[in-house]
Amino acid sequence: MLIWIGSPKPLRAEKVLFLDRDGVINRDRADYVKKVEEFCLFPDVIPALRLAKKQGYSLIVVSNQSGIGRGIINIGNFWRIHFFLVQLLQKNGIFLTGALYCPHRPEQNCRCRKPEPGMLVRAADIFSFSLPGSIFIGDRKTDVEAAQKAECRPVLVLREKVAYFDSTYEYPIYESLMDAVANECIRKET
Ligand SMILES: [Mg+2]
Ligand SMILES: [Zn+2]
Repeated sequence: MLIWIGSPKPLRAEKVLFLDRDGVINRDRADYVKKVEEFCLFPDVIPALRLAKKQGYSLIVVSNQSGIGRGIINIGNFWRIHFFLVQLLQKNGIFLTGALYCPHRPEQNCRCRKPEPGMLVRAADIFSFSLPGSIFIGDRKTDVEAAQKAECRPVLVLREKVAYFDSTYEYPIYESLMDAVANECIRKET
């Protein structure tokens, strides 16, 4: 597991929003996001993450990056993409608490590759927060499964795929990250 810690403080009282990276924060690619030039941020990410922050959520990225284990993504380029994202968000006043990445290939049967909940469990351990009560926004069934195994609330953002999706699942599905955050992360006034 590759772990980057943005905030050294335990989070205890704070709420956590887990975010998948490819397909949620930036456009996914069938041939992997291999270098900074291939990293394309979705336009709603900055306002959506600002809103989540304003609602008291800490942000943690959890992402499968098997392209590393497959030898397709160079490790230096992988970290360049990571810091490009971190700095892009920072310039907009958004600070990530952490990022956890699984570099393994599926056949390695590691415990971190989603749908396994290893990265979520590890994050909860590092930052001392409780997984039930946390939200995980992803774009694949494997993200939902990892969330369920970790007892987090699964939320799907499908963007342009939303029209083609079987809507019989019982977790929430949104067309954009902004919609997901606006509906899932806003404290309901009581
Ligand atoms: Mg994804
Ligand atoms: Zn792994």
